[in-house]
Amino acid sequence: MNDSPTYLSGLRLIDRRVVVVGGGHVAQRRVPHLIAAGARVHVVAPEVTPAIEGLVGSGEVTWHERGFEEGDLDDTWYCIAATNFPTVNERVSRAAEARRVFCVRADDALKATAWTPATGRHDGVTVAVLGNRDPGRSARVRDEIVEEMREGRIAARHEQGRTPGVVLVGGGPGEPELITVAGRKALMDADVVVADRLAPRELLGDLPTDVELVDVAKLPRGRSAQQEEINRVIVERALAGKRVVRFKGGDNFVFGRGYEEVIACREAGVPVTVIPGLTSPVAVPAVAGIPVTHRGVAHDFTVISGHLPPGHPESLTSWPAVAGLTGTLVLMMAVQNAPAIAAALVEGGRAPETPVAVVCEGTMPGERTVLSTLGTLADDLETQAVKPPAIIVIGEVVAVAHPESYPQHEPAGT
Ligand code: SAH
Repeated sequence: MNDSPTYLSGLRLIDRRVVVVGGGHVAQRRVPHLIAAGARVHVVAPEVTPAIEGLVGSGEVTWHERGFEEGDLDDTWYCIAATNFPTVNERVSRAAEARRVFCVRADDALKATAWTPATGRHDGVTVAVLGNRDPGRSARVRDEIVEEMREGRIAARHEQGRTPGVVLVGGGPGEPELITVAGRKALMDADVVVADRLAPRELLGDLPTDVELVDVAKLPRGRSAQQEEINRVIVERALAGKRVVRFKGGDNFVFGRGYEEVIACREAGVPVTVIPGLTSPVAVPAVAGIPVTHRGVAHDFTVISGHLPPGHPESLTSWPAVAGLTGTLVLMMAVQNAPAIAAALVEGGRAPETPVAVVCEGTMPGERTVLSTLGTLADDLETQAVKPPAIIVIGEVVAVAHPESYPQHEPAGT
């Protein structure tokens, strides 16, 4: 049985005398933490490392340049026996015991009355780990916990300073690692999460169990009724004192109706902030290995919603003007109208041989790329049974990424 029970406590050492016996590397590691805790640190040792000497020089530590004497522990609250000599550490230990001073021993943990945990801090939280006298293991566990906190996988929710309001969080294109650190933190800090169909679903599985999850896909149908209901939910919850995250795929301001939610919050006097996300028209081609720009090939890229076909009375896009552009076109929400769009682009002067890549379910397990051209797009979408969500990339950059599929094209960017 090597388990030894301890009672973990946070010592508040401000202006209290702490004695470190020994001036070597163990002492050197402990002293800065004691200084940071506000202790009056006294080092007793005939010699000290240059680092400790520096702290003596700057007045942060008092150095008694000699061997240990029992009286060193008078008026002392805490001590560390960190010499290389077990007999000295033993004397320190006994003197501490006699004075009811807790004492850490560098050489023999079982004889000590206190142990030093591996500690780390993040965002106002201190983590302390005691790994049953295996300091390496303690440090590794500490590192992992602090790392998880930094990345938001452990919800370091703090009640102090938590202000109600709405945060629009862009979740990225789908793969859960492609959310920002800030986005992940906001998610873990939320009381209510209002999530879209395209928002990275796996991240919702990590939410603390007391978080209310509102699934927009389950709200009543009809585009505007649904949006009104979302606005109502986020405003109402925020006014009730909750932290609300409005969680969407990609970026909330890219065909995400995010700004309508900003306006609704402002009108209701609800504080609203925005955490951008990796937007799919850039991230999905990137992950599929297609650059949206390439030197000497495309000096512009244009992102267009294809949810309305060319010529539709409500369309705000000038397709003849788009056809006249020479750079990369990226179409979103365009699977259904792609045949009509391709025809309009050819009619407007784009060559039917122009390379096209359709990236379906980008960054997700079902990701696949269908290569085509403007002239053959309609047929290819049908024979390949392409379904949304998909990003359609049109232009020479597709041939740069897939030269083997477009042999008639000049090697580009040279
Ligand atoms: N706000 C989102 C876009 C919402 S519109 C963003 O910034 O990315 C929805 C469209 O985005 C889909 O029709 C599709 O064209 C595109 N899209 C989003 N995620 C995608 C993905 N993982 N793979 C392919 N297309 C995606």
